[in-house]
Amino acid sequence: MTPLGLDIARLIALEGPISLERYMGLALGDPRYGYYMTRDPLGAQGDFTTSPEISQMFGELIGLWCADLWLRMGQPEKLSLVELGPGRGTLMQDVLRATKNVIGLHRALSVTLVEMSPVLRETQRQTLVSCGVPVDWHEDISALPEQPTLVLANEFFDALPVRHYQRVHQHWHQRMVGLDTDNHLAFGLAAEPEHALKLEAPEGTLLEIGLIGDRIMADLSAHIARFGGAGLVIDYGHTRSGFGETLQAMKHHAFTGPLDAPGEADLTTHVNFERLAQMATAQGLIVAGSTTQARFLAGLGIVERTARLIKSAAPEQAKDVEAALVRLTDPSEKGMGSLFKVLGLRHPDMPEPAGFN
Ligand code: SAH
Repeated sequence: MTPLGLDIARLIALEGPISLERYMGLALGDPRYGYYMTRDPLGAQGDFTTSPEISQMFGELIGLWCADLWLRMGQPEKLSLVELGPGRGTLMQDVLRATKNVIGLHRALSVTLVEMSPVLRETQRQTLVSCGVPVDWHEDISALPEQPTLVLANEFFDALPVRHYQRVHQHWHQRMVGLDTDNHLAFGLAAEPEHALKLEAPEGTLLEIGLIGDRIMADLSAHIARFGGAGLVIDYGHTRSGFGETLQAMKHHAFTGPLDAPGEADLTTHVNFERLAQMATAQGLIVAGSTTQARFLAGLGIVERTARLIKSAAPEQAKDVEAALVRLTDPSEKGMGSLFKVLGLRHPDMPEPAGFN
């Protein structure tokens, strides 16, 4: 058992079983032992690799997406660029490098990074120390700058805690984390049903609900509705709500049990893009997509960009660039090009963003 696992077992022994949502919150965000709080999980040495870490093209194209919108929205004098869960700061670094020569943009820009991890905040600071644009860190989205805002979130929503419910005798019971007879963490169901959940479903059906993600999306959308702007949410997930659960734990690029190593394995779920889109439209925003990452990147010109990079690259480098293109846009069922979806959101006064048609 991990040190955090022992803490959680003690907590459960004292207070009784805890919800999956609370368990995930502790496993990922516990100030002392939480997974993101204690390490940089990204890259070959870590537990998973993300699109910006695969290729600079990803961030560069998103940078051009931002610059294009800024130009077409009339080049406002102040623009806040917000990134949720910036990891190592690689995406933001590539965005800023790619937009350096857009006249006036960097003078208008201020960057806000929303990051809960002190370790990653320090990595981001080092990555962006000489980026030439003011950078500020926030722990959450509660006090974003009150001006037009572009929001970027790559692999952020998948990292937020969720609740599970199971259908038993025509009621929904919340999935809890308790202790088995050997005092190991084990899943169980709450004795009392959740009467507020009215959905009909066959006996045994599982339901996954991301209330924390819903709240963040609603608040972000309210911010954009008030101050203007747009956003991009990129993550693995599904385009339609459905039953079933998608919780997974990853350690050193391999799957492990979600209760096996709290604090030492990444816990994620697939993002429900239909739900996120509903949250945005409920606040008066217009959504684009979701579309697949393959289609979005193709729409932004990743093929042309690859060709240009290859032209000026040494043969070894050229092979890497070509491999990155294939990996980011792989359209097969489990490839990043189709598993990853992109959702655009914007204030009704904003022009239509690139990459969605
Ligand atoms: N976007 C980066 C990193 C993805 S990993 C990339 O694509 O490479 C998830 C990121 O979200 C990490 O930076 C993690 O510390 C951060 N994070 C997870 N949950 C968070 C929360 N509730 N509040 C703020 N940041 C969070």
